[in-house]
Amino acid sequence: MNLPDAEVYTFNAPDGVENRLTRYKAGSKGPVMVAHGAAVWSGMFMLPTIEENFTAFLASNGYDVWLLDWRASIRMPLRQFTLDEAAENDFPAAIAFIKDKTRADSIQAVVHCAGASAFFMTLAAGLAPDVRCVSCSQIALHYKVPAATETKCLLHLDAVLKSAGLDYLSCTEDPQHPLFQRLFTDMVNLAHHECTSSVCHRITFLFGHLYRHDKLNAATHARLSDQFGNCNITAFRHLAQIVRHGSALRYDWGREENLRRYGTETPPGYLNPEHLRIPITFVSGELNRTYLPESTAQTYNWLRAANGPELYQRHVVPGYGHIDNFMGYRANIDSYPLFLEQLEACPA
Ligand SMILES: [Zn+2]
Repeated sequence: MNLPDAEVYTFNAPDGVENRLTRYKAGSKGPVMVAHGAAVWSGMFMLPTIEENFTAFLASNGYDVWLLDWRASIRMPLRQFTLDEAAENDFPAAIAFIKDKTRADSIQAVVHCAGASAFFMTLAAGLAPDVRCVSCSQIALHYKVPAATETKCLLHLDAVLKSAGLDYLSCTEDPQHPLFQRLFTDMVNLAHHECTSSVCHRITFLFGHLYRHDKLNAATHARLSDQFGNCNITAFRHLAQIVRHGSALRYDWGREENLRRYGTETPPGYLNPEHLRIPITFVSGELNRTYLPESTAQTYNWLRAANGPELYQRHVVPGYGHIDNFMGYRANIDSYPLFLEQLEACPA
């Protein structure tokens, strides 16, 4: 279907950081807020290179679609932030903005990767009581990553960047930085059989395999640089802390600063199921090697044990990896319906 004209809104979160919402009011269902991951932007849901992107899919199903560019968006100014700051500010402000514009009492949400991670922090902290149902992609509050080479990138990334004198994720082949070179070699071993795109190799180096090559069409693969960009090191360090811990916790500022901020030497966790008593569907790609499917299984099982099994669903998409669940050329057939199912089943 043809999308209605976009309505673009910018607003400031309570801490002054600008966010953007792009609305496609295709129908009366929803509103549904859609949130991207780190080092990407809402364009991942609006790919011009596939037959039916996620926005068009939701629109053709009659939804009022709101694409959020939160502070991690590569289309917003690069800044240092913790996921706690995004969780406390961006998502509550975006929800309030959508409610105000639509006069809806509540919203639904589809959230992906770091956007899902931060959004679940918002939920768990009780800061999003007006969210009715959630479809969650790849990660929520538990993190399980491969023990293999990809992990090395995530866990050692801050050391790499420090050695390169950077405060954001980028890529250099500068031989002055031996650690970087060693990791870069590992990355090439991972990626060089699959393609010759240096953009693709840099993405794989920084984030691990974000997609299965066989799920992307040539046009999407050729235009990856439209979709991926920089990620600030503070957010990435926070993700690395969470990966090492295994579940979401607040940013570790070091003992003294933790005591000052939290009253405890170590950062408090987010594993409180009290505010998560809403219908949630978790979706993982079977072959996700950025965050293993076990990640959503842990959150799913934890919630079922805490709040009962009725509210929660989980799907594993055969043959898919991470972001190809949205950017894949057949995702409208293989993956999108699993996210839609929860939106459709959501009580009014
Ligand atoms: Zn490639």
